[in-house]
Amino acid sequence: MQTADFLIVGGGIAGVSAAARLAPHGRTILLEAEDSFGYHSSGRSATYYHFGIGKSVVRGMTAFSRSHFETVGANGTALSRSSSALFIAPPEMLAGLDALEAEMRPYSDGLERLDADGVRGIVPVLRCGGDGIVAAVLDRTARRLDSEALQQDYRAAIKRAGGQSIANARVVAVAREGASWVATTAAGERFAAPVLVNAAGAWCDEIAHLAGVAPLGLQPLRRTIIVFDAPPDQATGDWPFTKTAVDDFYMLPESGRLLACPVDEVPSEPTDAQPEEYDIALAAAKVEHYTSLAVRRISHSWAGLRTFTHDRVPVAGFAPDAEGFFWLAGQGGYGLQTAPAMAAATEALITGGDWPADLADWGVDQADLAVERIQIGKASA
Ligand SMILES: Cc1cc2nc3c(=O)[nH]c(=O)nc-3n(C[C@H](O)[C@H](O)[C@H](O)COP(=O)(O)OP(=O)(O)OC[C@H]3O[C@@H](n4cnc5c(N)ncnc54)[C@H](O)[C@@H]3O)c2cc1C
Repeated sequence: MQTADFLIVGGGIAGVSAAARLAPHGRTILLEAEDSFGYHSSGRSATYYHFGIGKSVVRGMTAFSRSHFETVGANGTALSRSSSALFIAPPEMLAGLDALEAEMRPYSDGLERLDADGVRGIVPVLRCGGDGIVAAVLDRTARRLDSEALQQDYRAAIKRAGGQSIANARVVAVAREGASWVATTAAGERFAAPVLVNAAGAWCDEIAHLAGVAPLGLQPLRRTIIVFDAPPDQATGDWPFTKTAVDDFYMLPESGRLLACPVDEVPSEPTDAQPEEYDIALAAAKVEHYTSLAVRRISHSWAGLRTFTHDRVPVAGFAPDAEGFFWLAGQGGYGLQTAPAMAAATEALITGGDWPADLADWGVDQADLAVERIQIGKASA
Protein backbone atom coordinates (compact mmCIF):
# COMPACT_ATOMS: atom_id res chain seq x y z
CA MET A 1 0.00 0.00 0.00
CA GLN A 2 1.35 3.43 -0.98
CA THR A 3 0.25 6.27 1.25
CA ALA A 4 -0.13 9.94 0.43
CA ASP A 5 -1.78 13.10 1.69
CA PHE A 6 -3.77 13.64 -1.51
CA LEU A 7 -4.95 11.01 -3.97
CA ILE A 8 -6.24 12.31 -7.30
CA VAL A 9 -8.28 10.06 -9.60
CA GLY A 10 -8.12 11.17 -13.24
CA GLY A 11 -5.25 12.52 -15.33
CA GLY A 12 -7.11 14.98 -17.55
CA ILE A 13 -6.58 18.73 -17.23
CA ALA A 14 -8.67 18.88 -14.03
CA GLY A 15 -6.65 16.21 -12.26
CA VAL A 16 -3.17 17.37 -13.29
CA SER A 17 -3.86 21.06 -12.56
CA ALA A 18 -5.27 20.27 -9.09
CA ALA A 19 -2.41 17.87 -8.32
CA ALA A 20 0.13 20.53 -9.31
CA ARG A 21 -1.42 22.95 -6.78
CA LEU A 22 -1.67 20.32 -4.02
CA ALA A 23 1.77 18.71 -4.43
CA PRO A 24 3.68 21.50 -2.59
CA HIS A 25 1.38 20.95 0.44
CA GLY A 26 1.89 17.20 0.88
CA ARG A 27 2.59 13.88 -0.78
CA THR A 28 0.42 13.72 -3.90
CA ILE A 29 -0.36 10.70 -6.09
CA LEU A 30 -2.40 11.00 -9.28
CA LEU A 31 -3.89 7.85 -10.85
CA GLU A 32 -4.86 7.77 -14.54
CA ALA A 33 -6.66 4.79 -16.09
CA GLU A 34 -5.30 5.15 -19.63
CA ASP A 35 -1.70 4.68 -20.72
CA SER A 36 -1.48 8.38 -21.68
CA PHE A 37 -2.61 11.48 -19.80
CA GLY A 38 -5.29 13.66 -21.38
CA TYR A 39 -6.51 10.79 -23.59
CA HIS A 40 -10.21 11.62 -23.11
CA SER A 41 -11.88 15.08 -23.14
CA SER A 42 -8.72 17.06 -22.41
CA GLY A 43 -7.04 15.77 -25.56
CA ARG A 44 -10.08 16.29 -27.79
CA SER A 45 -11.05 19.92 -27.28
CA ALA A 46 -10.94 22.91 -29.59
CA THR A 47 -8.36 24.41 -27.17
CA TYR A 48 -9.85 27.90 -27.10
CA TYR A 49 -9.98 30.47 -24.34
CA HIS A 50 -12.83 32.91 -24.90
CA PHE A 51 -15.70 34.61 -23.11
CA GLY A 52 -18.44 33.52 -25.51
CA ILE A 53 -19.45 30.53 -23.41
CA GLY A 54 -20.94 29.69 -20.02
CA LYS A 55 -22.52 31.56 -17.13
CA SER A 56 -20.89 34.45 -15.24
CA VAL A 57 -19.12 32.03 -12.84
CA VAL A 58 -17.47 30.37 -15.84
CA ARG A 59 -16.49 33.73 -17.35
CA GLY A 60 -15.07 34.81 -14.00
CA MET A 61 -12.96 31.65 -13.75
CA THR A 62 -11.85 32.13 -17.35
CA ALA A 63 -10.71 35.70 -16.62
CA PHE A 64 -8.86 34.55 -13.46
CA SER A 65 -7.07 31.84 -15.47
CA ARG A 66 -5.67 34.20 -18.09
CA SER A 67 -2.42 35.03 -16.26
CA HIS A 68 -1.54 31.33 -16.04
CA PHE A 69 -2.03 30.82 -19.78
CA GLU A 70 0.16 33.84 -20.55
CA THR A 71 3.16 32.23 -18.85
CA VAL A 72 5.74 30.06 -20.55
CA GLY A 73 5.83 26.42 -19.48
CA ALA A 74 8.72 24.82 -17.62
CA ASN A 75 10.20 23.37 -20.82
CA GLY A 76 10.13 26.78 -22.54
CA THR A 77 6.93 26.17 -24.53
CA ALA A 78 4.25 28.89 -24.51
CA LEU A 79 1.05 27.61 -22.90
CA SER A 80 -1.09 29.69 -25.26
CA ARG A 81 -0.95 32.39 -27.91
CA SER A 82 -3.11 35.40 -28.67
CA SER A 83 -5.88 34.66 -31.20
CA SER A 84 -9.16 36.54 -31.66
CA ALA A 85 -12.67 35.15 -31.40
CA LEU A 86 -15.38 36.28 -33.83
CA PHE A 87 -19.03 35.83 -32.86
CA ILE A 88 -21.21 36.01 -35.97
CA ALA A 89 -24.92 36.62 -36.38
CA PRO A 90 -27.36 36.20 -39.26
CA PRO A 91 -30.55 38.29 -38.76
CA GLU A 92 -32.29 35.72 -36.54
CA MET A 93 -29.33 35.72 -34.09
CA LEU A 94 -29.04 39.52 -33.66
CA ALA A 95 -30.77 39.51 -30.28
CA GLY A 96 -28.47 36.67 -29.23
CA LEU A 97 -25.43 38.68 -30.37
CA ASP A 98 -26.56 41.71 -28.33
CA ALA A 99 -27.03 39.54 -25.25
CA LEU A 100 -23.66 37.85 -25.73
CA GLU A 101 -21.86 41.18 -26.16
CA ALA A 102 -23.42 42.48 -22.93
CA GLU A 103 -22.43 39.27 -21.07
CA MET A 104 -18.82 39.40 -22.33
CA ARG A 105 -18.24 43.12 -21.74
CA PRO A 106 -17.34 42.92 -18.00
CA TYR A 107 -14.62 40.36 -18.80
CA SER A 108 -13.08 41.64 -22.03
CA ASP A 109 -11.72 45.07 -22.93
CA GLY A 110 -11.11 43.95 -26.50
CA LEU A 111 -14.62 43.83 -27.97
CA GLU A 112 -15.44 45.42 -31.32
CA ARG A 113 -18.79 45.39 -33.14
CA LEU A 114 -18.53 44.67 -36.90
CA ASP A 115 -20.96 44.89 -39.81
CA ALA A 116 -21.03 42.47 -42.74
CA ASP A 117 -18.17 44.26 -44.53
CA GLY A 118 -16.04 44.12 -41.40
CA VAL A 119 -16.71 40.38 -41.07
CA ARG A 120 -15.83 39.78 -44.74
CA GLY A 121 -12.56 41.64 -44.21
CA ILE A 122 -11.52 39.13 -41.54
CA VAL A 123 -12.89 35.82 -42.82
CA PRO A 124 -13.61 36.38 -46.54
CA VAL A 125 -15.36 33.02 -47.05
CA LEU A 126 -18.21 33.74 -44.59
CA ARG A 127 -21.58 34.24 -46.30
CA CYS A 128 -22.47 37.82 -45.43
CA GLY A 129 -25.42 40.13 -46.07
CA GLY A 130 -29.05 39.33 -46.86
CA ASP A 131 -30.06 36.31 -44.79
CA GLY A 132 -26.36 35.55 -44.17
CA ILE A 133 -24.17 37.16 -41.51
CA VAL A 134 -25.13 40.79 -40.88
CA ALA A 135 -23.18 41.60 -37.70
CA ALA A 136 -20.49 40.22 -35.42
CA VAL A 137 -18.50 40.91 -32.28
CA LEU A 138 -14.75 40.48 -32.43
CA ASP A 139 -13.02 39.72 -29.13
CA ARG A 140 -9.30 40.43 -29.34
CA THR A 141 -8.61 38.99 -25.87
CA ALA A 142 -9.25 35.34 -26.86
CA ARG A 143 -6.38 32.83 -26.88
CA ARG A 144 -5.49 29.50 -28.45
CA LEU A 145 -4.37 27.12 -25.73
CA ASP A 146 -1.75 24.39 -26.13
CA SER A 147 -3.37 21.47 -24.28
CA GLU A 148 -0.31 19.23 -24.59
CA ALA A 149 2.00 21.95 -23.23
CA LEU A 150 -0.43 22.59 -20.35
CA GLN A 151 -0.56 18.88 -19.48
CA GLN A 152 3.23 18.55 -19.58
CA ASP A 153 3.76 21.70 -17.56
CA TYR A 154 1.37 20.61 -14.80
CA ARG A 155 2.90 17.12 -14.68
CA ALA A 156 6.38 18.63 -14.45
CA ALA A 157 5.18 20.76 -11.51
CA ILE A 158 3.78 17.66 -9.76
CA LYS A 159 7.13 15.90 -10.19
CA ARG A 160 9.17 18.92 -9.04
CA ALA A 161 7.16 19.02 -5.82
CA GLY A 162 7.84 15.32 -5.19
CA GLY A 163 4.44 14.05 -6.38
CA GLN A 164 3.72 11.13 -8.69
CA SER A 165 1.51 10.84 -11.80
CA ILE A 166 0.84 7.17 -12.55
CA ALA A 167 -0.66 6.05 -15.88
CA ASN A 168 -2.25 2.64 -16.53
CA ALA A 169 -3.76 2.83 -13.06
CA ARG A 170 -7.51 2.32 -13.45
CA VAL A 171 -9.23 2.65 -10.08
CA VAL A 172 -11.71 -0.23 -9.68
CA ALA A 173 -12.51 0.02 -5.97
CA VAL A 174 -12.67 2.89 -3.45
CA ALA A 175 -13.26 2.35 0.27
CA ARG A 176 -12.97 4.41 3.44
CA GLU A 177 -10.66 2.57 5.83
CA GLY A 178 -10.27 4.42 9.12
CA ALA A 179 -9.28 8.00 8.32
CA SER A 180 -8.18 7.21 4.74
CA TRP A 181 -9.67 6.59 1.35
CA VAL A 182 -8.13 3.49 -0.22
CA ALA A 183 -8.19 3.20 -4.02
CA THR A 184 -7.43 -0.15 -5.60
CA THR A 185 -6.36 -0.32 -9.25
CA ALA A 186 -7.15 -3.01 -11.83
CA ALA A 187 -3.61 -4.34 -11.28
CA GLY A 188 -4.36 -4.76 -7.57
CA GLU A 189 -2.17 -1.90 -6.33
CA ARG A 190 -3.53 0.00 -3.33
CA PHE A 191 -3.15 3.72 -2.59
CA ALA A 192 -4.35 5.44 0.58
CA ALA A 193 -4.83 9.09 1.56
CA PRO A 194 -7.15 11.04 3.86
CA VAL A 195 -8.28 13.16 0.88
CA LEU A 196 -9.43 11.71 -2.45
CA VAL A 197 -9.99 14.15 -5.32
CA ASN A 198 -12.53 12.82 -7.83
CA ALA A 199 -11.34 14.32 -11.15
CA ALA A 200 -12.44 11.48 -13.40
CA GLY A 201 -14.29 13.66 -15.95
CA ALA A 202 -17.26 11.80 -17.46
CA TRP A 203 -16.62 8.99 -14.94
CA CYS A 204 -16.93 11.14 -11.77
CA ASP A 205 -20.32 9.68 -10.83
CA GLU A 206 -18.90 6.18 -11.36
CA ILE A 207 -16.04 6.90 -8.95
CA ALA A 208 -18.62 8.19 -6.43
CA HIS A 209 -20.60 4.99 -6.88
CA LEU A 210 -17.46 2.92 -6.16
CA ALA A 211 -16.92 4.98 -2.99
CA GLY A 212 -20.54 4.77 -1.83
CA VAL A 213 -20.94 8.55 -2.21
CA ALA A 214 -24.15 10.09 -3.63
CA PRO A 215 -23.70 10.89 -7.34
CA LEU A 216 -24.22 14.40 -8.76
CA GLY A 217 -26.30 13.33 -11.79
CA LEU A 218 -23.56 14.40 -14.20
CA GLN A 219 -24.45 14.23 -17.90
CA PRO A 220 -21.74 13.61 -20.52
CA LEU A 221 -22.67 15.13 -23.91
CA ARG A 222 -20.82 14.05 -27.05
CA ARG A 223 -19.40 16.69 -29.40
CA THR A 224 -17.88 16.16 -32.85
CA ILE A 225 -15.03 17.86 -34.68
CA ILE A 226 -14.00 17.58 -38.34
CA VAL A 227 -10.74 18.79 -39.88
CA PHE A 228 -10.83 19.50 -43.60
CA ASP A 229 -8.60 20.95 -46.31
CA ALA A 230 -8.37 24.74 -46.35
CA PRO A 231 -8.95 26.58 -49.64
CA PRO A 232 -5.55 26.88 -51.37
CA ASP A 233 -6.20 30.52 -52.39
CA GLN A 234 -6.76 31.80 -48.82
CA ALA A 235 -4.31 32.54 -46.00
CA THR A 236 -6.38 30.88 -43.27
CA GLY A 237 -3.71 30.71 -40.56
CA ASP A 238 -4.67 34.05 -38.98
CA TRP A 239 -8.44 33.53 -39.10
CA PRO A 240 -10.08 33.85 -35.70
CA PHE A 241 -12.09 31.26 -33.81
CA THR A 242 -15.43 31.94 -35.56
CA LYS A 243 -18.61 30.94 -33.74
CA THR A 244 -22.28 31.73 -34.21
CA ALA A 245 -23.69 34.05 -31.53
CA VAL A 246 -26.25 31.36 -30.69
CA ASP A 247 -24.86 27.83 -30.46
CA ASP A 248 -24.96 26.33 -33.96
CA PHE A 249 -21.47 26.20 -35.51
CA TYR A 250 -17.81 27.07 -35.07
CA MET A 251 -14.71 26.97 -37.25
CA LEU A 252 -11.02 27.78 -36.73
CA PRO A 253 -7.65 27.25 -38.38
CA GLU A 254 -5.87 24.03 -37.45
CA SER A 255 -2.30 23.29 -38.60
CA GLY A 256 -2.79 24.50 -42.18
CA ARG A 257 -6.31 23.07 -42.37
CA LEU A 258 -9.69 24.14 -40.95
CA LEU A 259 -11.48 22.64 -37.97
CA ALA A 260 -15.28 22.78 -37.73
CA CYS A 261 -17.87 21.73 -35.19
CA PRO A 262 -21.69 21.52 -35.42
CA VAL A 263 -21.86 22.22 -31.63
CA ASP A 264 -23.68 18.94 -31.17
CA GLU A 265 -24.67 17.78 -27.68
CA VAL A 266 -25.63 14.12 -27.80
CA PRO A 267 -26.25 12.48 -24.39
CA SER A 268 -23.78 9.66 -23.81
CA GLU A 269 -22.61 7.20 -21.22
CA PRO A 270 -19.03 7.78 -19.98
CA THR A 271 -17.08 6.14 -22.81
CA ASP A 272 -14.26 6.46 -25.34
CA ALA A 273 -16.42 8.70 -27.57
CA GLN A 274 -16.28 8.17 -31.32
CA PRO A 275 -17.71 10.44 -34.04
CA GLU A 276 -20.96 9.33 -35.70
CA GLU A 277 -21.43 9.60 -39.50
CA TYR A 278 -24.48 11.83 -39.00
CA ASP A 279 -22.58 14.41 -36.91
CA ILE A 280 -19.63 14.42 -39.33
CA ALA A 281 -22.05 15.12 -42.21
CA LEU A 282 -23.79 17.80 -40.11
CA ALA A 283 -20.45 19.54 -39.47
CA ALA A 284 -19.69 19.59 -43.22
CA ALA A 285 -23.21 20.84 -44.03
CA LYS A 286 -22.84 23.71 -41.55
CA VAL A 287 -19.49 24.72 -43.07
CA GLU A 288 -21.22 24.93 -46.43
CA HIS A 289 -24.19 26.82 -44.93
CA TYR A 290 -22.15 29.54 -43.19
CA THR A 291 -19.30 29.82 -45.73
CA SER A 292 -18.70 29.61 -49.47
CA LEU A 293 -16.35 26.65 -48.88
CA ALA A 294 -16.99 23.16 -50.23
CA VAL A 295 -15.86 20.40 -47.86
CA ARG A 296 -14.20 18.09 -50.40
CA ARG A 297 -11.94 16.07 -48.11
CA ILE A 298 -12.21 15.52 -44.38
CA SER A 299 -8.69 14.64 -43.22
CA HIS A 300 -9.81 13.46 -39.80
CA SER A 301 -12.57 13.71 -37.24
CA TRP A 302 -13.03 12.95 -33.58
CA ALA A 303 -15.54 13.19 -30.78
CA GLY A 304 -15.21 13.92 -27.09
CA LEU A 305 -17.44 14.23 -24.04
CA ARG A 306 -18.36 17.49 -22.34
CA THR A 307 -19.74 16.59 -18.92
CA PHE A 308 -22.18 18.93 -17.19
CA THR A 309 -23.93 19.42 -13.87
CA HIS A 310 -27.64 20.32 -14.05
CA ASP A 311 -26.83 24.07 -13.91
CA ARG A 312 -23.79 23.87 -16.20
CA VAL A 313 -21.48 25.28 -13.51
CA PRO A 314 -18.56 23.04 -12.45
CA VAL A 315 -18.19 21.64 -8.94
CA ALA A 316 -15.18 22.02 -6.63
CA GLY A 317 -15.92 21.02 -3.06
CA PHE A 318 -16.04 18.31 -0.43
CA ALA A 319 -18.97 15.90 -0.55
CA PRO A 320 -21.31 16.73 2.35
CA ASP A 321 -21.96 13.00 2.83
CA ALA A 322 -18.39 11.63 2.86
CA GLU A 323 -15.44 13.05 4.80
CA GLY A 324 -12.35 13.69 2.65
CA PHE A 325 -14.11 12.98 -0.68
CA PHE A 326 -13.57 16.02 -2.92
CA TRP A 327 -15.54 16.60 -6.14
CA LEU A 328 -13.75 18.27 -9.07
CA ALA A 329 -16.30 17.71 -11.79
CA GLY A 330 -18.70 19.03 -14.41
CA GLN A 331 -16.20 21.17 -16.37
CA GLY A 332 -18.45 20.90 -19.45
CA GLY A 333 -17.18 22.77 -22.50
CA TYR A 334 -14.76 25.02 -20.59
CA GLY A 335 -12.53 22.67 -18.61
CA LEU A 336 -9.29 23.89 -20.19
CA GLN A 337 -9.93 27.60 -19.95
CA THR A 338 -11.12 27.35 -16.32
CA ALA A 339 -8.56 24.78 -15.09
CA PRO A 340 -6.20 27.24 -13.34
CA ALA A 341 -9.15 28.75 -11.44
CA MET A 342 -10.63 25.37 -10.50
CA ALA A 343 -7.20 24.19 -9.32
CA ALA A 344 -6.69 27.33 -7.21
CA ALA A 345 -10.15 26.85 -5.65
CA THR A 346 -9.32 23.18 -4.97
CA GLU A 347 -6.04 24.11 -3.28
CA ALA A 348 -7.77 26.64 -1.01
CA LEU A 349 -10.63 24.33 -0.05
CA ILE A 350 -8.47 21.26 0.63
CA THR A 351 -5.59 22.95 2.45
CA GLY A 352 -7.79 25.41 4.36
CA GLY A 353 -6.14 28.37 2.68
CA ASP A 354 -7.81 31.69 1.92
CA TRP A 355 -10.18 31.79 -1.04
CA PRO A 356 -8.13 33.35 -3.89
CA ALA A 357 -8.78 37.11 -3.76
CA ASP A 358 -8.59 37.48 -7.55
CA LEU A 359 -11.23 34.79 -7.95
CA ALA A 360 -13.52 36.66 -5.54
CA ASP A 361 -12.78 39.88 -7.48
CA TRP A 362 -14.01 38.13 -10.63
CA GLY A 363 -17.25 37.29 -8.78
CA VAL A 364 -16.57 33.61 -8.08
CA ASP A 365 -17.25 32.44 -4.52
CA GLN A 366 -16.96 29.10 -2.81
CA ALA A 367 -20.76 28.69 -2.77
CA ASP A 368 -20.90 29.03 -6.57
CA LEU A 369 -18.86 25.84 -6.98
CA ALA A 370 -20.16 23.96 -3.93
CA VAL A 371 -21.68 20.49 -4.10
CA GLU A 372 -24.55 21.60 -1.88
CA ARG A 373 -26.16 23.62 -4.70
CA ILE A 374 -26.55 20.54 -6.92
CA GLN A 375 -30.12 19.37 -7.26
CA ILE A 376 -30.00 15.81 -8.42
CA GLY A 377 -32.52 14.93 -11.06
CA LYS A 378 -33.15 18.56 -12.04
CA ALA A 379 -33.28 19.04 -15.81
CA SER A 380 -30.19 20.54 -17.44
CA ALA A 381 -30.25 24.37 -17.66
C1 LIG B 1 -15.10 18.71 -28.90
C2 LIG B 1 -14.76 19.43 -27.62
C3 LIG B 1 -14.34 20.76 -27.68
C4 LIG B 1 -13.97 21.42 -26.51
N1 LIG B 1 -13.47 22.69 -26.61
C5 LIG B 1 -13.03 23.32 -25.49
C6 LIG B 1 -12.40 24.59 -25.58
O1 LIG B 1 -12.23 25.15 -26.68
N2 LIG B 1 -11.99 25.20 -24.42
C7 LIG B 1 -12.14 24.58 -23.20
O2 LIG B 1 -11.74 25.16 -22.18
N3 LIG B 1 -12.72 23.37 -23.09
C8 LIG B 1 -13.16 22.72 -24.20
N4 LIG B 1 -13.74 21.48 -24.10
C9 LIG B 1 -14.00 20.94 -22.76
C10 LIG B 1 -12.77 20.34 -22.13
O3 LIG B 1 -12.12 19.48 -23.04
C11 LIG B 1 -13.21 19.56 -20.87
O4 LIG B 1 -13.99 20.38 -20.03
C12 LIG B 1 -12.00 19.10 -20.06
O5 LIG B 1 -11.10 18.42 -20.88
C13 LIG B 1 -12.46 18.19 -18.92
O6 LIG B 1 -11.28 17.76 -18.25
P1 LIG B 1 -11.32 16.60 -17.20
O7 LIG B 1 -9.94 16.45 -16.68
O8 LIG B 1 -12.44 16.83 -16.25
O9 LIG B 1 -11.78 15.29 -18.03
P2 LIG B 1 -10.90 14.25 -18.88
O10 LIG B 1 -9.91 14.93 -19.72
O11 LIG B 1 -11.85 13.34 -19.55
O12 LIG B 1 -10.08 13.49 -17.75
C14 LIG B 1 -10.68 12.53 -16.89
C15 LIG B 1 -9.69 11.40 -16.75
O13 LIG B 1 -10.14 10.51 -15.74
C16 LIG B 1 -9.70 9.23 -16.11
N5 LIG B 1 -10.46 8.21 -15.39
C17 LIG B 1 -11.76 7.90 -15.54
N6 LIG B 1 -12.09 6.86 -14.74
C18 LIG B 1 -10.96 6.52 -14.08
C19 LIG B 1 -10.65 5.51 -13.14
N7 LIG B 1 -11.56 4.63 -12.71
N8 LIG B 1 -9.36 5.41 -12.66
C20 LIG B 1 -8.41 6.30 -13.07
N9 LIG B 1 -8.66 7.27 -13.99
C21 LIG B 1 -9.92 7.39 -14.48
C22 LIG B 1 -9.94 9.19 -17.61
O14 LIG B 1 -9.20 8.18 -18.25
C23 LIG B 1 -9.57 10.59 -18.03
O15 LIG B 1 -8.23 10.68 -18.50
C24 LIG B 1 -14.09 20.78 -25.24
C25 LIG B 1 -14.51 19.45 -25.19
C26 LIG B 1 -14.83 18.78 -26.37
C27 LIG B 1 -15.23 17.33 -26.28
